[in-house]
Amino acid sequence: RAEQAGRNRYALYESSWEAPGTPHLRTESLLQEALRQDSFTLHFQPQFALATGHLTGAEVLLRLTLGDGTPLSPASFIPVAESTGQIIEIGEWVLRRACRQLRVWDALGLARIPFAVNVSAIELSQADLSTRLQFILEQEGVGMERLHLEITETAIARNEALAIANLKALRAAGFEIWIDDFGTGYSSLKSIKNYPASGLKLDREFVKDLSEDQAARVVAASILDLARNLGYPVVAEGIENAVQCALLRSQGCDIGQGFHLGHPVDALEFQRLYLSGGAN
Ligand code: C2E
Ligand code: MG
Ligand code: MG
Ligand code: MG
Repeated sequence: RAEQAGRNRYALYESSWEAPGTPHLRTESLLQEALRQDSFTLHFQPQFALATGHLTGAEVLLRLTLGDGTPLSPASFIPVAESTGQIIEIGEWVLRRACRQLRVWDALGLARIPFAVNVSAIELSQADLSTRLQFILEQEGVGMERLHLEITETAIARNEALAIANLKALRAAGFEIWIDDFGTGYSSLKSIKNYPASGLKLDREFVKDLSEDQAARVVAASILDLARNLGYPVVAEGIENAVQCALLRSQGCDIGQGFHLGHPVDALEFQRLYLSGGAN
């Protein structure tokens, strides 16, 4: 089933593959309804400097809960939104909401952390992406340096010339660019050095077996070495236990994110758990 094939597989959702009344069409109308009724929500997952334990930022993750309380995973609805083009409107909604949340916390005098927002391949294939995003931030009164854009290697490789032009424009505008799910995509090691990136997010695939498997440790250490030699800081994703966390720290990984350090939570919970100390 296409839905189970995971993200970055929007090609499987070609409309000709689907008959009316299929899950794809149902998801499309659920997304339309969620946009109309403003019923998406955002969760925030903390990121910490592994050397000091300080909060360095939060990844913004989109959530959709159906009327009956069932959560719909972004891993299943984002690919549908990409294939229908709804991702453009959804991406804009996420960015505006994220900006408003930053302003709420700024107004309360809380730590001025940046947010990491996911940008899809479809958004990256629009020539006016940088102009559009700058316009939104200006309208919302938030500086570009507060938003880090997470973009997968696969999204960049899909239309490399346009993607790189977009990334350059975004960086020139002041956004940071982080390569998401690094190591699992289709980009060659040769092209990664040409990406106008601020840093890399080590995919959780490389973190998963760290505690049990010597080979996994060698692979992770090599990727961290490569990143260091290219001058990229690294955020490790999917840290689920203390052993993984300690290994990554000892291998010089800069920042960590994962259930062991903090689950994605709603804004109030994030504020209570991580920002309650006030400004720092
Ligand atoms: P991603 O950008 O790689 O986000 C990280 C995913 O890993 C999130 O899943 C997060 O909840 C999950 N995660 C975090 N820590 C752990 C851990 O320790 N263990 C495990 N097993 N998982 C962990 P989520 O929220 O379900 O999102 C899945 C994907 O959906 C994201 O992957 C991203 O590609 C996409 N996505 C989510 N929100 C947005 C959005 O606003 N826009 C776009 N374009 N894509 C989004
Ligand atoms: Mg991400
Ligand atoms: Mg990721
Ligand atoms: Mg990942």
